[in-house]
Amino acid sequence: MHRPMAIKNRSHMSFRKRSHNLLRFGVLAVGLTSLGAVIGKVSEHPFGSHDDPLAPSNQLSASVLPPPVISLTPSIDSTPPSASIADHAQPSNQIPPEQTVDATPENPELKTVDVTIEKGSSLSKIFAQFSLPTSELDQILKLGSDAKSLTRLRTGESISLELSNEHAGDAQLQRLSYDLGFDRTLHVVRTEDGDFKAEVEQHPLEYRQALGRGTIHDSFYNAATEAGIAPDIVMQLADIFGWKINFLTDIKDGDSFSILYESVYKNGEQVTTGDILAASFTNNGKLYQAVRYSDSTGNTAYYTPDGKSLERGFLRYPVEFSRISSGFSHSRLHPVLNVVREHKGVDFAAPAGTPIRASADGKITFQGWKGGYGKVVMLQHDGVYSTVYGHMSRFEPSLSQGESVKQGQVIGYVGATGYATGPHLHYEFRINGAHQDPLSAKLPEAMPIAANQRPRFLSESAQLMTQLARMENEAKTASLNTDTRNE
Ligand SMILES: [Zn+2]
Repeated sequence: MHRPMAIKNRSHMSFRKRSHNLLRFGVLAVGLTSLGAVIGKVSEHPFGSHDDPLAPSNQLSASVLPPPVISLTPSIDSTPPSASIADHAQPSNQIPPEQTVDATPENPELKTVDVTIEKGSSLSKIFAQFSLPTSELDQILKLGSDAKSLTRLRTGESISLELSNEHAGDAQLQRLSYDLGFDRTLHVVRTEDGDFKAEVEQHPLEYRQALGRGTIHDSFYNAATEAGIAPDIVMQLADIFGWKINFLTDIKDGDSFSILYESVYKNGEQVTTGDILAASFTNNGKLYQAVRYSDSTGNTAYYTPDGKSLERGFLRYPVEFSRISSGFSHSRLHPVLNVVREHKGVDFAAPAGTPIRASADGKITFQGWKGGYGKVVMLQHDGVYSTVYGHMSRFEPSLSQGESVKQGQVIGYVGATGYATGPHLHYEFRINGAHQDPLSAKLPEAMPIAANQRPRFLSESAQLMTQLARMENEAKTASLNTDTRNE
């Protein structure tokens, strides 16, 4: 099967989903530490034939490499555009010293300087260092939200300046470049009339398909990480099957999993992972399968291969990097009051400051101090469901009572305010005001695939499951060959 690799922009939806996955992963990472692993292997190759150098996928990958820089050339009359770009490209390939100065041979007037941000440094200090006028700095910072990110430079990041007239002690900034992420670079360029304009260069990314698989011997988390699967993919998998498999209690020795996921490349190098496309998980002899599907309105969700939704409206675990320190119970010794009283929620112990996220879309009905809860946020999700998040150290400053929040959005930070012995999130889940155990409450399933989407869904689903099985077989054959050679 030869098929061009997908090159696409990530949907808004998938970013939102990823933040959910962070939450789930924290619970897994810490909650399952009693378990470990022996594993298969991760194989990774472009979609299509990876052993044929002339396969369309390889040609395509070569064709996307040169980034479109031409439109971003600084407008300096005396400098040939190609020279400034070519010279700029060289120092970045070397081991980066703190500052690289590169004089352009054709134009000694123009220098490119790469500055690595040190602790306590800032753009205004860098401007002072090169005697650049602060009025120009002010001008640049007013060029919009992308340029505004120059006020939040972090240690270890680098910024590239193209300067003219530096030898004359009268340096003038012609161009400034700063990576906004692995996929975007901000360029501030001096225009012909002496002002500045900000442009964002979008780097072409290449999405390849990768397979991760393993067998669990003591911990899903260990099995996955030992197989070389990125933590984000582990989180996504736990999120996808979270309402079918309780990853805290249901994992058995011998459980196994296979994951077909996106691996994202820039200029031939892997920069991150994308979304899980298809996955299977065998838990206690029972097979669970999932495929990702985006409908015609752009909504993306995970379904069983025959189109049933795997999702619920709520996150099970609304806090990152945590463990459940105290399960739901109707009778427990309260650690602070030291009396037996009903504990109507779940406590998630986590370091102070750990972000707490809304477990579903909703509205903030309360944000303030309330007795034993300390600093607490209450969310109403619709007419029926509400959730409570207690003992916060602080609220998310950008939010206030009455505002709407999205699922996965940070609403506050773990603390120990109110009756709490140590930092933890006290989480309550209520249906019509009545407390329910959030870890086992019956939640409505999301809708199955709509009838009008079904033909396209079934065709895509079958393709993904076939691709998963094919890569799985290849990986098995490869590991068998390796075993034979080693004997
Ligand atoms: Zn509690």
